[in-house]
Amino acid sequence: GPAASAPLLANLNPEQLAAVTLPAGHALILAGAGSGKTRVLTTRIAWLLQTGQVSPGGILAVTFTNKAAKEMQARLQAMLPVNTRGMWIGTFHGLCNRLLRAHYKLVNLPQSFQILDTQDMLSAIKRLMKEHKVDDERFPAKQVQYFISGAKEDGNRPTDIQPRGEDDRKKVELYALYEAQCQREGVVDFGELMLRSYELLRDHAPVREHYQQRFRHILVDEFQDTNRLQYAWLKQLAGPNASVLAVGDDDQSIYAFRGANVGNMADFVREFDVKHQIKLEQNYRSFSNILDSANHLISHNSRRLGKNLRTDQGPGEPVRVYEATSDFAEAQWIVEEIRQLVRDGTDRKEIACLYRSNAQSRVIETALFNAAVPYRVYGGLRFFERAEIKHALAYLRLLENPSDDTSFLRVVNFPPRGIGARSLEQLQDAAREMGCSLHDAVSSIKGKAGTNLGAFVALVDVVREQSQGQPLRAIIEQVLDASGLLIHYRAEREGADRVENLEELVNAAESFVSIEGFGRDANGMDARPSQSPASQGLDLSQPVLDQPLDEPPAFDAETGETQSPLVAFLTHAALEAGDNQAQAGQDAVQLMTVHASKGLEFDCVFIGGMEEGLFPHENSMSDRDGLEEERRLMYVAITRARKRLYLSHSQTRMLHGQTRYHVKSRFFEELPENTLKWITPKQSAFGAYAPRAGAGGSGSGWGGGSGSFGMGAAPQPVVQQKAAPSHGLRAGLQVFHNKFGEGTVLSVEGAGEEARAQVNFPRHGVKWLALSVAKLTVV
Ligand code: ATP
Ligand code: MG
Repeated sequence: GPAASAPLLANLNPEQLAAVTLPAGHALILAGAGSGKTRVLTTRIAWLLQTGQVSPGGILAVTFTNKAAKEMQARLQAMLPVNTRGMWIGTFHGLCNRLLRAHYKLVNLPQSFQILDTQDMLSAIKRLMKEHKVDDERFPAKQVQYFISGAKEDGNRPTDIQPRGEDDRKKVELYALYEAQCQREGVVDFGELMLRSYELLRDHAPVREHYQQRFRHILVDEFQDTNRLQYAWLKQLAGPNASVLAVGDDDQSIYAFRGANVGNMADFVREFDVKHQIKLEQNYRSFSNILDSANHLISHNSRRLGKNLRTDQGPGEPVRVYEATSDFAEAQWIVEEIRQLVRDGTDRKEIACLYRSNAQSRVIETALFNAAVPYRVYGGLRFFERAEIKHALAYLRLLENPSDDTSFLRVVNFPPRGIGARSLEQLQDAAREMGCSLHDAVSSIKGKAGTNLGAFVALVDVVREQSQGQPLRAIIEQVLDASGLLIHYRAEREGADRVENLEELVNAAESFVSIEGFGRDANGMDARPSQSPASQGLDLSQPVLDQPLDEPPAFDAETGETQSPLVAFLTHAALEAGDNQAQAGQDAVQLMTVHASKGLEFDCVFIGGMEEGLFPHENSMSDRDGLEEERRLMYVAITRARKRLYLSHSQTRMLHGQTRYHVKSRFFEELPENTLKWITPKQSAFGAYAPRAGAGGSGSGWGGGSGSFGMGAAPQPVVQQKAAPSHGLRAGLQVFHNKFGEGTVLSVEGAGEEARAQVNFPRHGVKWLALSVAKLTVV
């Protein structure tokens, strides 16, 4: 009864209370960030259950992520002693999956049907097109995929589409063939989950009526990001006795690029004849400096439904803004601030680093890793664990070690080159019999399989040959090109992110080279001073890191042989992927894209890369719609913060392996100046942006050679000595080594103790030699 529900309702404001205790009927809550929409939705479920108006089985709640669904279940369990299992709480895809499993016979699927992700779907389409000998120049597979997914989102089967022109007719035909193939194989893609369960409800009155009877209360969070098909699906489920509660915020609509339709809110009000509309105007999440910033920013958008947000909390800390000289310095600053926050008692899980694009995480990950700060990348994989990065690393490993069978298997048919499972079985059998690596067994395979396998081996061998004497960056670029990885992902509908990540790998190599001391030119100067910890204004006499970056390169005492930069880099990648991984439940800093942060909140939020072209993203800057969506994204990002907000941008950034100048984001102009506190970087103007004299050195190319890497401020003028290379070696010279004999110098880098040379010895192959140890004489 009412008495029992008192504690449940105790802390609600009048509008929230009204929303939680609404009588039956459809309702819309339109309210800004942090106003308690999700809390209202959850509390309403608890209240409905507690007051006996509905049983758990009568509840259907749609959340935006699986994480949100779990959280909602946990909160309900905490509020009430109910069994949440009977409730249907989940994402659209999760709930559709549940429906299809329950009615697999009716929808003509095997009970154990499998779900294809976007990548699987594309592979399936390619296979189909090959089988039917479709010209993939004229009909690129991802275009076909785009067509099919779009059709499903519009609720159309092949027979529903009126083809416009010959090409369209072909695509419709492929759509039909693809459907047949999926049916044969018992698989469904994401669009199919949604469409088929929609059709189930539409075409089977008894099923529809069953669920309409069952679900008395349908509650939808983040309603602004539903698409047409999802909306139509909801309409099927909502029976005459159901009450639909939709909550949303038009200012947080950030999925228009995937078909989300804010117009669904207006349609909902009209088509459901919504009786109750409630606005929540009190923000409970953020201090007013943060909230004012968000309000001020979003007021620059023109098409808004109009809402206000206020807070009773005081101003709190000002929003801190940092201007860095490089992306590396920016990451260093973020990590320093994070460590300070943790020292002051903030839990790491209450600190979030948000970024606009996935690839931006890499620099921050490295800085956190080096400082031994546990972190977790949420809603995505850590950089070195992403599939495309692992593919690229596998090629690199094969350059170093042709008999790395794991790497071999990972990429032998990726990108696809017609090597099937049967050929691979044959190859593995042969290798087992001969007791050799897969690589070495290839020559024993005959026929078409042998030809294709041979072509793969030749590809890797050629890259290995060509990469001798090349800087790490060039090797990686060559691998990305020659392997076909870049072309492959560029052609993919949702491959843009993966391409960015691959390009980011080039950056990773570039900064690895300079941080690890691989990047000094022959003058002994850092190729990229702004990226070395020593140039960040830190005391050079003290260890700058809690832990050494890595073991110092090991020398073979006898020969002076040392690790190649490629091996060192691969080791680094493997360590960073495996170690220091925050354990489940461990207190860790949260890293995620702004998109993935929707609905979440943290005490402290960092938003990095606030630069034109990054945020707002360059793809969205040309038209007003795009820009307004970027602004909504920024609004989402800002409003994640409870107590502290940190914004940063960098004057220069590594993109595609090159340092670029960046202008700070226009969004800074749209924030109220009185809430911001600009942090003056601890640096003098000395040396800033002055092209470094003597750049280039011997032309070894390890990050040197290009004047652009000399940019970046020297925060505290570090006296740099221009020692001439004492070893007197340069590329092209013939040298003699006690053990390896005569060889040709391919490249030289570093100076003094750290000078190294890459030498090709005809009888022993290419070696990296530490010149302080190895005895080389010029012949
Ligand atoms: P978003 O738009 O970001 O999804 P939201 O509108 O869903 O935000 P909630 O996440 O539900 O907002 O609430 C924001 C924060 O404010 C939460 O920590 C919530 O517990 C708290 N909160 C909401 N209402 C109240 C209240 N009446 N009293 C105290 N705290 C509240
Ligand atoms: Mg919410």
